Amino acid sequence: MDAGHTGYTSSNGIPELKEAIAEKLRGNGVDADADEVIVTPGGKQALFETFQTLIDDGDEVVLLDPAWVSYEAMVKLSGGSLKRVDLAPHDFRLEPALDELADTVSDETKLLVVNSPSNPTGGVFSDAALEGVRDLAVEHDIAVISDEIYERITYDGFEHTSLGSLDGMEDRTITINGFSKAFSMTGWRLGYLHAPEDLISQAGKLHSHSVSCAVNFVQHAGVEALSDRTDDTVEEMREAFEGRRDMLVDLLAEHGVDVAVPKGAFYMMLPVDDSAVQSTAENASGEQPRADDQAWCEGAIQDAKVATVPGSAFNAPGYARISYAASEERLREAVERLAEHDYI
Ligand code: PLP
Repeated sequence: MDAGHTGYTSSNGIPELKEAIAEKLRGNGVDADADEVIVTPGGKQALFETFQTLIDDGDEVVLLDPAWVSYEAMVKLSGGSLKRVDLAPHDFRLEPALDELADTVSDETKLLVVNSPSNPTGGVFSDAALEGVRDLAVEHDIAVISDEIYERITYDGFEHTSLGSLDGMEDRTITINGFSKAFSMTGWRLGYLHAPEDLISQAGKLHSHSVSCAVNFVQHAGVEALSDRTDDTVEEMREAFEGRRDMLVDLLAEHGVDVAVPKGAFYMMLPVDDSAVQSTAENASGEQPRADDQAWCEGAIQDAKVATVPGSAFNAPGYARISYAASEERLREAVERLAEHDYI
C-alpha cells in the first residue's frame, strides 16, 4: 500500500501476477500463458465467472458427489441442469465410479466438475481416474472445470496432478485455483482461472463489468506468495495438517469410528449415527427430531458445542463433514465432547 498499489489494475490482473500464475501452472505441466489467466477476488469468483460464461439455460453439468456446496448453487444461477454421480459408495474414490460416470455423461453434457483434493471428502483422485475423465471428456467433447484449490495440501507423499496437463485436456480444461488454502489467505480474496483464450475473452467481459479487478495490493501479495520464499512455510502447514489428520483418524478409531482416510485438503466425512439425536434434540427443542445428518449436526452443536456440516449439504446424507483446520488441542477436545455426549 505504501508503494501506491491502491488504484484499479487492468481488469484481468497485474502482468507480474498473471505471469507468476502461468509459470506456476507450467510447473504443473499445463501449457499456460499469462494471457489465458484471469485474476479474481477468490477462487469462488473464478468458478462463478466460468459457470456464467459457459452455461446457458438447460445446459447439462455433471457433478461428482459429495460435491462442494457452491457448485450446485452456481449451476442453478447459470440456468444449467444437473446430473450427479455418487462417489460415497466407493469410499469417495473416482476410479471405481468411472463406469457410472461413463453412463452418466453423453454428447449432451456440456461441463463436468472435478475437485481434487476434495472439499468435503479429503479424497484425491488417482492419475488413472483423471485419465478416465480425460477419455470421456474427449469422447463426448465436454469441458471440465478442475478445481485445484487444495493442491498444496496432500498427504502420504502424494503429488498432485493437474487435469489440464493430460494430453487432450489442453483446450477443454478450466483450472481454478487460489491463495486461500495454500497460503491461508481466505480473507484476502484472491484466486484465478486459467482457460483457453476464447473463454477468457468472454469471461473477461463478465469480470470487467462486475468486479473490475481483484484488489491491487492483494495481487502484489499474490506474487510474493507464489515465490519460492513461501515454500518452507507452506510445507510446515501441510505437515501440521497431516499430523492433525493422523491424530483425528486415530482418535475416532479409538471410539470405534472408521472414516475414509483423507489424502488431502483438511476435511473428513464422519458416518453419523443418529440415535443420539433422537433423545437430545427432542429434549432441546421439544419437537420430533429428524433422524438424519442435519439433526445429528444440530444436536452435536447444541449438546457438545462442536460444529460440523451436514453431509446432505454436499448431497451426501448420512455423513457429517469435519474440518480439521483447528489446533490439535481443540480437535482433541471436540472428539472428547462428541464421545461424552454419545455422538460417536
Ligand atoms: N473450491 C473449493 C472446493 C473450496 O472449498 C473453496 C473454499 O472453501 C473454494 C473453491 C473457494 O475458495 P476462495 O474463494 O476462498 O478462493
